[in-house]
Amino acid sequence: MSTALELLRQVFGYQEFRGQQAQIIEHATAGGDALVLMPTGGGKSLCYQIPALLRSGVAVVVSPLIALMQDQVNAVQQLGLRGAFLNSTQAWSEQRNTIQAVLEDELDLLYVAPERLLSADTLELLHDTNIALFAVDEAHCVSQWGHDFRPDYLGLSVLCEEWPDVPRMALTATATTRTREEIITQLRLQNARVFVSSFDRLNIKYQIKPKIQARKQLLHFINSEHSDDSGIVYTQSRASTEQLAKFLTDNAIKALPYHAGMDPVARAETQATFLREDNIVVVATVAFGMGIDKPDVRFVAHVDIPKSVEGYYQETGRAGRDGEPADAWMVYGLQDVIRQRQFIAAANSDTAYKAHATEQLNAMLALCETPQCRRARILNYFGEQAVRCNNCDNCLTPPTTWDATTAAQKLLSTIWRLHHEYKQHFGTGQLSDILTGIRSDKVLQWHHDKLTTFGCAADVSPATWFILVRHLLANGDLNVGSHSELLFNSRSHEILYGERPVILRVSESPKPIKKTRQPANMLAKQRTPTDVPTEVFEALRTWRSGTAKEQSLPAYIIFHDSTLRAIAAVHPSTLAELAEVSGVGETKLNRYGQAILDVLKSAAT
Ligand code: ADP
Ligand code: ZN
Repeated sequence: MSTALELLRQVFGYQEFRGQQAQIIEHATAGGDALVLMPTGGGKSLCYQIPALLRSGVAVVVSPLIALMQDQVNAVQQLGLRGAFLNSTQAWSEQRNTIQAVLEDELDLLYVAPERLLSADTLELLHDTNIALFAVDEAHCVSQWGHDFRPDYLGLSVLCEEWPDVPRMALTATATTRTREEIITQLRLQNARVFVSSFDRLNIKYQIKPKIQARKQLLHFINSEHSDDSGIVYTQSRASTEQLAKFLTDNAIKALPYHAGMDPVARAETQATFLREDNIVVVATVAFGMGIDKPDVRFVAHVDIPKSVEGYYQETGRAGRDGEPADAWMVYGLQDVIRQRQFIAAANSDTAYKAHATEQLNAMLALCETPQCRRARILNYFGEQAVRCNNCDNCLTPPTTWDATTAAQKLLSTIWRLHHEYKQHFGTGQLSDILTGIRSDKVLQWHHDKLTTFGCAADVSPATWFILVRHLLANGDLNVGSHSELLFNSRSHEILYGERPVILRVSESPKPIKKTRQPANMLAKQRTPTDVPTEVFEALRTWRSGTAKEQSLPAYIIFHDSTLRAIAAVHPSTLAELAEVSGVGETKLNRYGQAILDVLKSAAT
């Protein structure tokens, strides 16, 4: 029988295991239960696919991603594995074929949706079958606090009850301790070994900027850094996905909207276009992305602030799964903070939930406001120690800071006076006018020019007041009401009485520093060959695109860009040389090897 390493080389065409893959595979193959926490793109699939080959029987993979099952099965079939799926979208004849294959022990991998697995028919079918293992993918879907909760996942404890001897593996890219504990309890994995990988994604560069004109900033970012790339833009509302996609299209960027309110057929089409075609930008709500394993998404942009660091990290993790340099880019502003706070306050849910949501938002805001390394901050949030990364905006161009304590005290004292002397509450615009001493109609109407703080900070620009308020709201040093009015809280007192300083970043003209270490994206770049002949690479891409179209498959399922690039650099002239390239396994070599050699030969002439 082959060993795990032999299968890795032969089937997948990779030379070595990454991180803890080898230990996880060994543990599961020996029959142990496992909880696998690994970031997106870390290489989770192999962890159950190789044990599926090493143990007898079929591996049952539970996945909520019905729309992507066909692609997942296509991908394993391309590797030469015997895979099939069962879900509600299939025609009966297809289901019958799959059931037959299960009964005759002809499958390595069976993908099922949880609701389908829990149906009496499927449970009965599986009882008549030899099961190698259960893999519960996207296991964080059992978490009722999380952003992807699927009630059907709660029923999966049945696996432990009905198949106590079959090993189970739960996999997720959501890393908080809370989610981890919920998975263990709900899926009854108390005796499982927990494998936690580093959540660092070295190849992703993080940038978070103040929102000035979101659209223009986004357009400039795409045009200047990603004009021919695939990317995802996340925004909060359904309407804004459509408006923003139209704006990008009007500016010659191929962009499509995606949100949960769209007609399911249109939604599926958008997803398929994104997966199958190059250089498409999808402008989406959070409904888009789980399970999208397109490896060459070069950027993920946020034009509104996400609700939590977990969500942000999961969304940005969809960039650069192939390990090549990628960008996580975001703009956020005062309105984002106010809107999110109001959402939480208005939500029709209990106080515990609201407190949790507030805590999550605060952590996200703190990440936006920090003048320190973004990556270190994110990793700390997930309980990992980290040092400066040199691949985020704050490391590459450290922000200059200024002491805004006095300005903050003037602002807070005005808010306090408005409340106590006038019984009034106002928003940032009015406060800015009062503090800088502008006699606007609204200032005169309310006699705010009589306040002792009127004009007390004429040297501070209106824009700065907005930034200061955003910072105070982000830190919880100030509250906001349902009409965007600013409200004093107990933390405001601490600042007013000089118990806590307020340090702000100066967003204007930050000075770049000399780099002491190589940026991580340089390191990532070096992992792939640098001297790739462009014409050869393009010829291979053209061949791949034709081959993918013939089989109605996404191109990356045939070969990743990184594999094509390596082929172009090595320029093999025999099948044996081609087999050495990372990502070229046995089945793909047999299927496409000769065609690739032909492409290389004609590209050379
Ligand atoms: P995840 O499910 O954790 O997001 P995948 O299983 O999709 O990640 O793997 C991410 C990418 O890394 C895939 O393209 C996969 O083929 C590749 N990969 C996985 N393991 C290895 C390895 N040991 N060596 C090289 N590439 C790998
Ligand atoms: Zn950094």
